[in-house]
Amino acid sequence: MKSYKVAVIGGDGIGPEVTSSAVQVLKKVADKFGFTLDFTECDAGGCSIDKAGVPLTEQTLDICRSSDAVLLGAVGGPKWDNVEPSLRPERALLGLRSGLGLYSNLRPALMFKELSSASPLKNVEAMDILIVRELTGGIYFGRHGRSDSSEVLSDGSVKGVTAYDTEEYSTAEITRILKEGFRYAQGRNKKLTLVDKANVLESSRLWREIASSIAPDYPDVQLDYLYVDNCSMQLINRPSTFDVIVTSNMFGDILSDEAGMITGSIGMLPSASLGAPGTPGMYEPVHGSAPDIAGTGKANPLATILSASMLLRWSLGETDASDAIEKAVRLTLADGFRTPDIMGDGEGVTAVDTEGMTAAVLSRI
Ligand code: NAD
Repeated sequence: MKSYKVAVIGGDGIGPEVTSSAVQVLKKVADKFGFTLDFTECDAGGCSIDKAGVPLTEQTLDICRSSDAVLLGAVGGPKWDNVEPSLRPERALLGLRSGLGLYSNLRPALMFKELSSASPLKNVEAMDILIVRELTGGIYFGRHGRSDSSEVLSDGSVKGVTAYDTEEYSTAEITRILKEGFRYAQGRNKKLTLVDKANVLESSRLWREIASSIAPDYPDVQLDYLYVDNCSMQLINRPSTFDVIVTSNMFGDILSDEAGMITGSIGMLPSASLGAPGTPGMYEPVHGSAPDIAGTGKANPLATILSASMLLRWSLGETDASDAIEKAVRLTLADGFRTPDIMGDGEGVTAVDTEGMTAAVLSRI
C-alpha cells in the first residue's frame, strides 16, 4: 500500500479548525482509495512565537522538507501585531516559501454555480480562473530599508525618514513562472493573460519581453496583456472571459483576493505553492486566520478541504481521491449546506457550522 508523509501546520485563529476538517477528509479518502497518510503536526506563526520565540523553527522546516506535502491553515492575529517585523507570524510563510523553494502559487478562483447568489456581482454564473502568482521574487523579497535625512526642503520641512521596497525580477525567475503559466493554459482553455504595470515599471517590461519571446513555443495558447489596474476592473466587468492569469508576487496577492471574492467567499478558495518537481508542495486556503470568527464555529472549512484535494492531485498523484473530494464538495453545496459566509439570501439552504459542513462533505465521499 502506498504511504505518504504530510506535515500539518494548523497555525493561528481558525487555522487549526479548518486543517482539522481537511485532515478528517484526507483520512476518509485515504481509506477509500487504499493509501495511507502519515500526518505530523507542527507549529508556525503566532503559536510558534509563543512556544519557541520565533515564527518558524528549523525543526518545523525540517519536518516539512522531509514530507511529501505540507497542509497549512493560517498564521497571524492581533496578539502578535506589535512584535518586531522580523518576528511577525507572517514571516513564517516567507520562511516556508523560501525554505521549500516554492516559487509558483496556484490560486484557482472557481465559481460554484450553487453559490452564484453569494457573489457580490449580479449575473455571474460561470467563472473558472487559475491565477499563477510568482512567489519568491518581487517586492516582498527585494531590498527593503530606510534612510534618514536632515535635509531641509524648499517648504522648510525636514525630509526625515524615507522607506523603500524594491521590485526586482531576473530573466530566470520570470521565464520559469511564465512557462508554467503557458503549460497550465495548454491543459485548460488555452488563454494566458500576463498582468503587469508595463506602462510604468521596468521589471514589468522585462516580463512582457520574455512572454512574447517564449509565446511561439506554445502556439496553441492565446497570449494577451493587461495592466494591473485595468485587470482589477475587467475581473469585475467580465470575469468569465479569463482562463489563466500569470503575474508577479504582489499583483497576484491582490488580484487573487479580488477574484476570490467574486466566487462568493474567501472561505471557498484553495491554493497550492509548488517548487521544483519532486519537492514538497504546500497547500493552504487563501484566507487568513480570521481572528474575528476564531472559536465560534463560523469558519468555512471548504477552502482548506479543497486545498487538501489539490495536495492529493499535485503532490501525491492521487487524482481519484482528489476528484472524490471535489465531487463531495459540489454535492454538499448542491444539497444546500451553507456556512454563514456563503449563506447568500438564505433561501432554501441549511445553515451549518464548521463541523456540520465537514460532516456533510465526509458523508458524500
Ligand atoms: P482574513 O482572511 O483572516 O479575514 C478576512 C475576512 O474574511 C474576515 O471577516 C474573516 O472572518 C473572513 N474569513 C476568512 N476566512 C474565512 C473562512 N474560512 N470562513 C468564513 N469567513 C472567513 O484576513 P485578515 O482579517 O486581513 O487577516 C487576519 C490575520 O490573518 C492577520 O494576522 C493576517 O496577517 C493573517 N493572514 C494570514 C494569511 C496566511 O496565513 N496565509 C493570509 C492572509 C492573512
